[in-house]
Amino acid sequence: MWQFGPCVLISAVFRNSVHKPKVLNRPAHVLATEVIMAIDFPEQIFGFNVEKRVIPRPGGQKFLFNSHTQIGVLHTTENPSVESSFKTLNTNHSAPHFIVGEGRIIQCRSLTHQAAALVGNAPFFANAQASIQIEMAAFTGGGKDTSSTTDVWLPKDEVLRPTIAIMAFCAANGIDIPLQVPTDDWKDDNSDMPLPWAVGPTKANPKRKMNVRRIRAASGDFPKLKGWWMHVEIPGQPEQWHHDCGALRRRDMLRMAQELLNKPI
Ligand SMILES: [Zn+2]
Repeated sequence: MWQFGPCVLISAVFRNSVHKPKVLNRPAHVLATEVIMAIDFPEQIFGFNVEKRVIPRPGGQKFLFNSHTQIGVLHTTENPSVESSFKTLNTNHSAPHFIVGEGRIIQCRSLTHQAAALVGNAPFFANAQASIQIEMAAFTGGGKDTSSTTDVWLPKDEVLRPTIAIMAFCAANGIDIPLQVPTDDWKDDNSDMPLPWAVGPTKANPKRKMNVRRIRAASGDFPKLKGWWMHVEIPGQPEQWHHDCGALRRRDMLRMAQELLNKPI
């Protein structure tokens, strides 16, 4: 029952306290903490209307609270259509917090709840440790299919702009994910990570190694290192290792998010 692990439990108790009455009678430090709590469902994010379409948990189970880990995780849906992406993620109960594409932002989970786009089992509890998860409706590599999946890429504008808006929003607002790559060692062209990126040990080939970033992450860098991670770097994922978002120009995106924050209002 990993969902009752310590960090989740503490988080749940903490967040439940928000709904108690007599707020004004509470100590100043408690009030100060509440001010920085994440808004569950923001209506707008840097000019984008946020479409609220909650993806339930299997069997309508209660949502799990997330933690203030300062970690965001980027994915690609391998499908440029927002509607098809939503349908697939909904059917698979693989909810991210946000699906972006076609100049739209769809929010599928409260910002105070865990998403489920990763495999979240022990010992890494990836969904509990990923404060925010974004699914970009695009192919990794930026092509029309999977044939260019290993290319260095930047999402096209209608995917890029809403993603950057969310990254900028999540740099503050009680979420506080720093606009940085978890470590400078991870290059945008993936020169530090030889191919194949997403092949780990399988039953047929148990001695095969995970990719170098996942090995490092599994040894303690996840969830220690803060910033925007990608699915390919998250430890504890299954045999059919996803390698999204591949050689994403992540630093360019982080820079754009910072520029958005720096813009005079
Ligand atoms: Zn993914």
